[in-house]
Amino acid sequence: MNRIILIKYGELTTKKGNRNFFINTLYNNIKEKLKKFDVKIHKDRARMYIEFNDSDLDDIKKNIDKVFGIHTYHIAYIVNTNMDDIKAEIVNIMKSISFKTFKVESKRSDKSFELGSQEMSRILGGVILKNIDDIHVDVHNPDVLVKVEIREKNSYIYLNSYKGSGGYPVGTQPKGMLMLSGGIDSPVAGYLAMKRGVKLDAVYFEAIPHTSLDARNKVITLTKKLALYGGNINLHIVNFTPIQEEIYKNCSPNYCITIMRRMMYRIMEKICNTHKGFAIINGESIGQVASQTLTSMKVINSVTNMPVIRPVACLDKLEIIDIAKKIDTYETSILPYEDCCTVFVPKHPVINPKIDQAIIEEEKFDYKKMVDDAVTGLDTIRITEDAFNKFKNLL
Ligand code: ATP
Ligand code: MG
Repeated sequence: MNRIILIKYGELTTKKGNRNFFINTLYNNIKEKLKKFDVKIHKDRARMYIEFNDSDLDDIKKNIDKVFGIHTYHIAYIVNTNMDDIKAEIVNIMKSISFKTFKVESKRSDKSFELGSQEMSRILGGVILKNIDDIHVDVHNPDVLVKVEIREKNSYIYLNSYKGSGGYPVGTQPKGMLMLSGGIDSPVAGYLAMKRGVKLDAVYFEAIPHTSLDARNKVITLTKKLALYGGNINLHIVNFTPIQEEIYKNCSPNYCITIMRRMMYRIMEKICNTHKGFAIINGESIGQVASQTLTSMKVINSVTNMPVIRPVACLDKLEIIDIAKKIDTYETSILPYEDCCTVFVPKHPVINPKIDQAIIEEEKFDYKKMVDDAVTGLDTIRITEDAFNKFKNLL
């Protein structure tokens, strides 16, 4: 029996004008994801079809589960669109499994086909009953639901549905700049942004020697894990040491975090401008720490006009952890390496900072050139699912 993976698109069905763009992006993403397998992929406006070798099926499914833009998929038996072939195949399939009750649901996309959907289901149900003993039809709660899709050339028969990853194909939105720390929240934020179709670059603020190369490697590992969902990701590493040291030398301790985050946002905006980023994305969550109260967010956010997307803003930590476990970033995130935000934490960071005071604090040192230097001195690493190449100033 000849099988095929039949993919039903996700939300892209709502995007009438852009439909082809969405389908082509999904097609390219699936093709890239399955490039190590011997597969043939076909597409039309309603479905995508993947021919595969049986021995690869489990691995292919694991890969498909990481491609956004798929609503459901089925492992379908493929048959010529004529009644005799369909009848013979459906009996073969049903004989190969064990069940007591069943129901046939047919769908006729080829309106020129001689039979209507209901009549088709009735006839095929009758054929199954005639060829297999001790079974009966149950339309409400069948052991097996057999779906039959009649299309022009080929028809498809399937028993199982698998939930796809949903969302939009990565690349249907332009690039977003993810602030990626080694924590739990920011990889989840990146994953959720990719699920909406955003292509990611990541930015890591590093403060060597106060942070270690282990901390950097942890961020590289997290980026690789995100690349499983979003393809190649450029990871930009900012040397944040000089700015951070100046902040802690000059500013009032309770404002240090506020100022540090305003500097991060300024640098992020410039990286967006030089590397075609359309939004800053981060793992801030309302109320989680002093710098993430709404008052703090307003003061920090006021240094940039870039949109700041915070996908986990309204999630509880436990909800974020659930996603982190699901996408396999959690175990890496909890490795105990210090982050630039944690090495200089003041005892009492301000919870309700004032914008005027933040400006006064920033006037205590000359940060403008330091911000520019941080951007020109970026170190960029291109990270793929299984490797990374280091090169500077990648566009
Ligand atoms: P945790 O899971 O421990 O909260 P976190 O990464 O969310 O880790 P926060 O201090 O809550 O840490 O920082 C809020 C957000 O700011 C992060 O989610 C991340 O997007 C960004 N951020 C913090 N530190 C860095 C860093 N060193 N490099 C890049 N982005 C950072
Ligand atoms: Mg956090």
